[in-house]
Amino acid sequence: MKSDIQIAQEATLQPIAEVAKKLGLTEDEISLYGKYKAKIDHKLAKREGKQGKLILVTAISPTPAGEGKTTISTGLADGLNALGKKTMLCLREPSLGPVFGIKGGAAGGGYAQVVPMEDINLHFTGDLHAIGAANNLLAAMVDNSVYQGNPHNIDPRRIVWKRCVDMNDRQLRFVTDGLGGKVNGVPREDGFDITVASEVMAIFCLATDLKDLKERLSRIVVAYTYDGQPVTAGQIGAAGAMTALLKDAFDPNLVQTLENNPAIIHGGPFANIAHGCNSVMATRLSLSLADYVVTEAGFGADLGAEKFLDIKCRKAGLSPNAVVIVATVRALKHHGGCPKDQLGVENLEYLTAGADNLRRHVENMRNFGLPVCVAINAFPTDTAAEHDCVKKICAELGVPCALAEVFAKGGQGGTELAKTVLDIMQDDTAVNFTYPDEMPLKEKVLSVAQKIYRAKDVTWSAPALKTLAEIEAMGYGNLPVCIAKTQYSFSDDAKLLAAPSDFTMTVRDVRLSAGAGFVVVIMGSIMTMPGLPKKPAAENIDVDENGKITGLF
Ligand code: ADP
Ligand code: MG
Repeated sequence: MKSDIQIAQEATLQPIAEVAKKLGLTEDEISLYGKYKAKIDHKLAKREGKQGKLILVTAISPTPAGEGKTTISTGLADGLNALGKKTMLCLREPSLGPVFGIKGGAAGGGYAQVVPMEDINLHFTGDLHAIGAANNLLAAMVDNSVYQGNPHNIDPRRIVWKRCVDMNDRQLRFVTDGLGGKVNGVPREDGFDITVASEVMAIFCLATDLKDLKERLSRIVVAYTYDGQPVTAGQIGAAGAMTALLKDAFDPNLVQTLENNPAIIHGGPFANIAHGCNSVMATRLSLSLADYVVTEAGFGADLGAEKFLDIKCRKAGLSPNAVVIVATVRALKHHGGCPKDQLGVENLEYLTAGADNLRRHVENMRNFGLPVCVAINAFPTDTAAEHDCVKKICAELGVPCALAEVFAKGGQGGTELAKTVLDIMQDDTAVNFTYPDEMPLKEKVLSVAQKIYRAKDVTWSAPALKTLAEIEAMGYGNLPVCIAKTQYSFSDDAKLLAAPSDFTMTVRDVRLSAGAGFVVVIMGSIMTMPGLPKKPAAENIDVDENGKITGLF
């Protein structure tokens, strides 16, 4: 089989102006970024009228390779279009960190991809640059304020705003800066995050217009004073200039699938310390342009879908009309205890044992009050007996299930799934949230831990409890919680596979994202600046004298 990039480079793309025209967009409503990319005026998202149906794609607890949510989302959108349903795909923007690290790009795979994949995976339309620049402008202004007489009485040891760069670079996790004597700044311990982990990215993805964007940016808490009072980006005077830097990036990006169907790719927050889905602007805009919108939430359903529903849908007033849970034979076998080197060998015992993981994710999505189906993402190593086994498990659970062969066959391989999704789809759904706004933060965390993860209890470290009390005293007790934990297990221990229960979870740290509008609750160790592996994907990426790129995946 051909590599992802070979398939992408062989595709015949339509000029993006034509894709836009099919959506009913006029020339004035789009800005071309070359021939195959365009930005759409974000203000169109507020148009009255048409409201498409929203389909959320999530997954069982993944293996480190990823289970194919982006691939299935893309193939499902092409499958729906193949059935004559006017459908839009709505995804996150890739970060350079994973592109050059282990995971590779995030533009789908095989015959279910978005193109131009090289652009989407590399600089795209510059949104990540704009977000990094806005983040770093604020960092520079905070340190400058301390240097220029410190009018806000900032304690330099309590500056919580970090600089960022869109790269996996562990060398920058902890740095000492401001060295070199009096004229060169105020020395302090500091550190970098990857750009997608910046609160600016989370804000960018939750803001509903430029005014809301500016207000959220001004609420960012950047530091604390010597007497423990919060200092915000608004007080530093940075919010206006940050918004100016983000103005163009805020317009969603239009591209196409391999089958020339429209796709909007916009915003890409981390799924651990942020909520992990594309921008609210992009989702709203897509719903105003198409009859069906397929979107993806990061990680497994315990993290990505929970946050999509309890944070994004709650704040943006959205409610999916159908939920698709992606399952793979290899991940189910992995949950059933199959050794890593045996994942490609048929084994129905491991598969059946691992089905508990799928069962619980199905139950959880149903508890949200949403119609659910399962997509089996077919891999070349799967056997027919294994696919039948997963179908049997789904039949026992009473959950509709479809084999999706989109990686190998594109939209045609996605029509069975598309029909299943259309079958389960409900017109009016209302998300049954895991907790109400007014519940105290500690109880919100316990609700998610017990209802979604099935923990017995949650214990809190003393520093986490202290920070939590401060956050509530500052008046942020009504915010939703954004739990950061491993994606490999329902619990906070990556080694507890399948469907563990009655475990106790530990909150190590709590952080306020006042601008994004959630409280980050950290269970386990969470990385906001990843590192590169021993053999980075970057070593295989190259470009020839004609500008043709190879080795991206
Ligand atoms: P996720 O969005 O869940 O992280 P992706 O769709 O990005 O997953 O897929 C992860 C990786 O697995 C990609 O490199 C993709 O090409 C590959 N992949 C996905 N589905 C299949 C499949 N059915 N067969 C082979 N490889 C696949
Ligand atoms: Mg993905």
